[in-house]
Amino acid sequence: METTVYLIIVDGLRADFGRRYFAGINRWLKEGKAAYTTLRSGLPSDSRPSYALIATGVDGSVNTITSNGSRQRCPAPNIFGLARQKGLRTGGAMYHWWSELFNKTPFDPATDHRQYDLERDIQDGYFYNSDETPDEVIFAKAREIRAHSRPHLLVIHPMSVDYAGDNLGGAASAAYRENCIRAGELTHQFIEEVMAEEPGAYFIVTADHGARDQGGHGGDSDEERLVPCWLLGPKVRPIDEQETRDQRALAPTILWLLGLAIPPHMTVPPLTHLFD
Ligand SMILES: [Zn+2]
Repeated sequence: METTVYLIIVDGLRADFGRRYFAGINRWLKEGKAAYTTLRSGLPSDSRPSYALIATGVDGSVNTITSNGSRQRCPAPNIFGLARQKGLRTGGAMYHWWSELFNKTPFDPATDHRQYDLERDIQDGYFYNSDETPDEVIFAKAREIRAHSRPHLLVIHPMSVDYAGDNLGGAASAAYRENCIRAGELTHQFIEEVMAEEPGAYFIVTADHGARDQGGHGGDSDEERLVPCWLLGPKVRPIDEQETRDQRALAPTILWLLGLAIPPHMTVPPLTHLFD
């Protein structure tokens, strides 16, 4: 049977806030239906380098994406391209920087919001370029893409938590907390709905980077770098581990779940200890 992996990246969700405010998914963890580990993002703890690191399993020193201003296509092999080359379908409802990294750059708002092209790494994509796009819209687009092409790898990437962290007062603000709670509800609802239809599917819920109490990120503090990572699916072991893992483990973990070979340049091993 073919495996499906849903990767939900809640932009700017700090680990401790995920543990505190993602109520539904933390309940699953308590009930032994999920695994949890904390991941440490790369440096700088900014969005574009983190997107590239998550998808390539290597940091900017290897994949060349070293800042939010790195607008070139990412030359390192990535999870979408590796899946596509093996005949798997890929999709995403994501910020437009993902399109620039893996499909085409620069992003052209006139033509690039909706892309369906089997020759591109993210084959079935909805790419938004307003940071204020409501998370509800992004989950709705992910449902449309799922219905449209049934991707084996589908990434859902909502932005409201990061927007509050950057623009509405930082992680200490009521807006950040409220957006965490809302994103947690939407994530829980999406997983519950898909799981009912697809009991064999895997779900990974994580973030690109965290947020400082007073706002912003990019630096080398735990607030900025530590992000949550929950895993759900049929062979997930109900482990709630205290260790912090390297965010570069995500790409090989996803490839392994999809039954694909892990390229040798991905030197951080996959999180296989969290699976039977
Ligand atoms: Zn971000």
